[in-house]
Amino acid sequence: MTDPTTPSTAADVVFVVAIDGPAGSGKSSVSKQVARRLGYGYLDTGAAYRALAWHALEHGIDTSDAASVLDVTGDFEYAISLDPDAYWVRVGAADVTDAIREPRVSDAVSGVARVPAVRESVNRLFRGLIAGSGRPGVIVEGRDITTVVAPDAPVRILLTAAPEVRAARRSAEVTTQDAAAVAAALHQRDASDSAVVDFLTAAPGVEVVDSTRLDFDQTVDAVLRVIRAAQSAPMIHGAPAVEPQQTGA
Ligand code: C5P
Repeated sequence: MTDPTTPSTAADVVFVVAIDGPAGSGKSSVSKQVARRLGYGYLDTGAAYRALAWHALEHGIDTSDAASVLDVTGDFEYAISLDPDAYWVRVGAADVTDAIREPRVSDAVSGVARVPAVRESVNRLFRGLIAGSGRPGVIVEGRDITTVVAPDAPVRILLTAAPEVRAARRSAEVTTQDAAAVAAALHQRDASDSAVVDFLTAAPGVEVVDSTRLDFDQTVDAVLRVIRAAQSAPMIHGAPAVEPQQTGA
């Protein structure tokens, strides 16, 4: 696996906005739009786990077998764009931007993501990508960004939505499967993923944005409000002096 050396100071030089949330919470499309509005980079961390799952499937690997998954990380050459207007994901020479969204990859990805050595390796990769983004800030979205990848980020948000709303949003995106199958797969993935990372409860200091009753633009605005509040708060030792309050947005 490609593993750039990681300055531990990534968050000091690049303004990191950490956004976690479950599948269908809208975090990818919202994060991308927030990045555009601020001129920031956008890092989709789930894409790395998906790309590794795709790579494992290409090798005919059983992704529920941790040792086999670790074996294929050896020749995993991963690249991702941080440009919210030109998003692509590559494994070696293959453009996998669309392929990693296929249901067979979504079904396999939790097996890959539960391997601790895989998580440590991709986390180093993420910190290197953030530090080298060349942008003043990066919106980083995933499941463990607020807690593990960038726990010191000046803005940390948990983007949630009611399970039935998330299932409906996801089935509107996935046209190759019927709504019931999409909902079942999403809930199954949430259950597997939450055994590894708790992304349904906000860690201390993490602000909750609940998008259940918000449309896309309202959710983007709610996230921008949290960011602007943090940026205008007086800073003590690089962190906002006042802990952000929970909003019922
Ligand atoms: O965000 P997305 O649904 O594309 O993520 C795909 C998968 O990658 C998740 O289901 C989860 O297994 C894994 N993931 C993770 N930690 C992250 C981001 C994604 O474990 N930070």
